[in-house]
Amino acid sequence: MLGYTREELAGMLIQQIHPHEMPLLLSMMNELREGRVVRTDRLSCLTKSKESIPAEISFSSVEIKGRPFVMAIVRDITERIRAEKEQELYVEHLKALNNLTQKITTSLDLEEVLRYITDSAGFLLSVPFVQIFINEGGYLVLKARNRDGWDLGDRAFPIGKGAVGYVAERGEIIYSENVQEDSIWQFKNIAVEYSLVSFLGVPLLSEGNVYGVLSCLTQEKRAFTKDEYELISAFANAASVALQNAEVHSRLEASFDELHKQQKMIVRAEKLSSLGVLAAGAAHEILNPANIISIRAQRLAEKSVGGTQEHKAAEIILHNVRRISRICDDLRRFSRDEPPAMAPFDPDEVLRESVGFMESEIRAAGVACRLELNPGPVAVRGDSHQIQQVFINLLSNARDAMPGGGRLRVASREIEEDGKRWWEARFSDSGAGIPEDTQGQIFDPFFTTKPEDRGTGLGLSVSHGIIENHGGKIWVESTPGQGATFYVRLEVFLQGG
Ligand code: ADP
Repeated sequence: MLGYTREELAGMLIQQIHPHEMPLLLSMMNELREGRVVRTDRLSCLTKSKESIPAEISFSSVEIKGRPFVMAIVRDITERIRAEKEQELYVEHLKALNNLTQKITTSLDLEEVLRYITDSAGFLLSVPFVQIFINEGGYLVLKARNRDGWDLGDRAFPIGKGAVGYVAERGEIIYSENVQEDSIWQFKNIAVEYSLVSFLGVPLLSEGNVYGVLSCLTQEKRAFTKDEYELISAFANAASVALQNAEVHSRLEASFDELHKQQKMIVRAEKLSSLGVLAAGAAHEILNPANIISIRAQRLAEKSVGGTQEHKAAEIILHNVRRISRICDDLRRFSRDEPPAMAPFDPDEVLRESVGFMESEIRAAGVACRLELNPGPVAVRGDSHQIQQVFINLLSNARDAMPGGGRLRVASREIEEDGKRWWEARFSDSGAGIPEDTQGQIFDPFFTTKPEDRGTGLGLSVSHGIIENHGGKIWVESTPGQGATFYVRLEVFLQGG
């Protein structure tokens, strides 16, 4: 055990073997009584080659031929200590696994779960680099890594390609001792640049399918024990459940937001249609007396001498009655008492015409206007005059939003959504935008932020009504301070002219 021969040992002093532990040994010998054994496992022995090894020693007193002797049995416990340490570490890891699993399965925030998983895998295996790839339609897309400042390339690996793709294809843990030499690693230059050596790829499984891959890399040659394989497999199972939960949750949140938006639109539509009936009746009733007032006021104005009090009063009455008539006209349009004529027309042509009508006014306001039309001819179905009214309203709102000049971009395109083909127009201005708290109100009737003689607050509600009657959609997106973009969508009726 110590490397000495029997002859060498005989006659050596105990101090030579236990140079630092004589006080301990002496106090143990003092405790010796007849028939007792005194033991310690905190002893070290110096070998012949001056190496220190941990040992256990037990003393017992014996009597040989009437003379007292001390018998010492020394055992090398290097192996036992190593096994105990390994056991302790394993228990530590199991505890950590338990904690981490609890942590990741209680969070529903996808980013947070990804971060926990990469950090925890790095901790459990004591590896410096961890990445998570998620299987998206046959491609493994990098979603997270445990530290910044190293870029192994934001790549997406097809299943079967590269180390990560190979793990996904096999659906089992893959180990490579040295990726710089192993053919499963594709990017040798990156492996050399970051001194990557050993690789452990762990599949994230879900009901037998590969949901993703956890990639662990070291910067020195590193083998993984059976315990570590078991530990990381158990962790990967919990991680894949947590990831899926978080993903489902974030999808649910998105659909909830969408639902909330749709609900708001439905409420608005209902509000508008009941208001419409009321408004139509009211507008009709108001227009009759307003006409009578207008005729009388006109007569008064004609009869009175210009500049007198009476003449001025008559002019004021006339001005305001005209305003009443304008509001009533808008109200009648808003109440949709004009059913749309359903005929096919080219919406790009109507858009071009509308911009043409408004061009000089827009330019006079110091606004540079750019028109980018959808190249392919399409037809939508509806009333082109009403649609033109919507476009003109959006164009004049954009002009009003940029009193000191600015930029207006009008563009159209075709897109596919909800299984339908849509023609979409966008009106993007560089005005002040719309504050978040009023974005939900601008389509409400009578909501206006313009001075009394400029706005009735009916333009957008009329536009909303028209587009809805056409089975289309109209909405706004705006970051306050950065302008607003209004969208109009109409379903494509015919394509290709
Ligand atoms: P009006 O133009 O008569 O005010 P609308 O219904 O057309 O009525 O518009 C309602 C309100 O929506 C406007 O007063 C304005 O506050 C806001 N708005 C409309 N378009 C824009 C735009 N492009 N940029 C900023 N605000 C806008």
